[in-house]
Amino acid sequence: MEKVLVCGAGGFIGHHLMRYLKEKGYWVRGADIKLPEFSSPDEADEFLQIDLRDMENCLKATEGIDKVYQLAADMGGMQYIANTHADVMRNSGLINLNIAEACKVNKVKRVFFSSSACVYPEERQLTPEVVPLKESDAYPANPDTAYGWEKLFSENLYYAYAQDHGLDVRVARYHNVFGPEGTYEGGKEKAPANMCQQVAAAPDGGSMWIVNDGKQTRSFCYIDECLEASYRLMESDITEPLNIGSDELISMEDMAQMVIGISGKKISIENDMTKAQGVRGRNSDNTLIKEKLGWAPSQKLEDGMKLTYAWINKQINPAG
Ligand code: NAD
Repeated sequence: MEKVLVCGAGGFIGHHLMRYLKEKGYWVRGADIKLPEFSSPDEADEFLQIDLRDMENCLKATEGIDKVYQLAADMGGMQYIANTHADVMRNSGLINLNIAEACKVNKVKRVFFSSSACVYPEERQLTPEVVPLKESDAYPANPDTAYGWEKLFSENLYYAYAQDHGLDVRVARYHNVFGPEGTYEGGKEKAPANMCQQVAAAPDGGSMWIVNDGKQTRSFCYIDECLEASYRLMESDITEPLNIGSDELISMEDMAQMVIGISGKKISIENDMTKAQGVRGRNSDNTLIKEKLGWAPSQKLEDGMKLTYAWINKQINPAG
């Protein structure tokens, strides 16, 4: 039985991935500085609550492991990464530097690195009707956040270990992953969870805010499809970076209307011009993933939003 380590297993994608890999029959070790918020660490065969900025901990976590999914990072939604630069670079940089070295020392067969659509240059994302981003667009590099620069650095860090030490590397560039059992309050939540939380908490006839004029666009990938794509990439022989995202583009205004529609409430929308909107538009070009894996995310956004809203609504209004 293959032994797999999920770094960041206390986080949103990581705890879902831990469960997914267990269901596939792997022996799974989770590692995170915190326990999963909405599920039990016992879903893994072993869960290490450790700080992966520490090299000794990374050596412990990778010991006896065949494959590593490296998802641990200092991250949050746009309001977090637009305002946190040094911590993101230092914390995530240290984690990746240590994990890459620990994989070498402990002769891990393969490592999957969760990079991000935030690696793409700002100048390609200046309008809401953005041209979808191809993997080759990443260079010449000009990410708009420190978070994106750290991801680009770490992609290259893992490739350097591949070149010099034969580490077998897979790199996914995730585009806005969402779904149930994710953070929906506290400042680190992403737009879909934030909107569901606001609408679920508001009384009928109440209001919600959206960032800026709401014309900015994004695409959102449902968690189940993110897991499927990540696993397919890990098990493939594709070593170049691949986008893992949906290519269904939506404005934030339309997404707010979608959530309101799902709730069945009457909610008015206010524009908060003080908050960071990030790039003006971003979409995933899925040509390469289709070509390389013969598969790409295809679920309609609204289907995933219904499931996400239902879960967040239950957290906020347990009595129904
Ligand atoms: P998340 O914040 O829920 O999970 C990251 C986990 O890393 C957290 O549980 C956190 O506690 C852990 N972590 C942070 N510092 C640590 C440390 N020093 N030691 C041990 N653990 C530490 O984020 P997520 O949404 O699950 O994202 C997973 C990965 O995918 C991240 O690398 C993220 O950058 C990347 N990504 C996510 C998205 C998305 O939309 N969710 C988009 C692009 C890229």
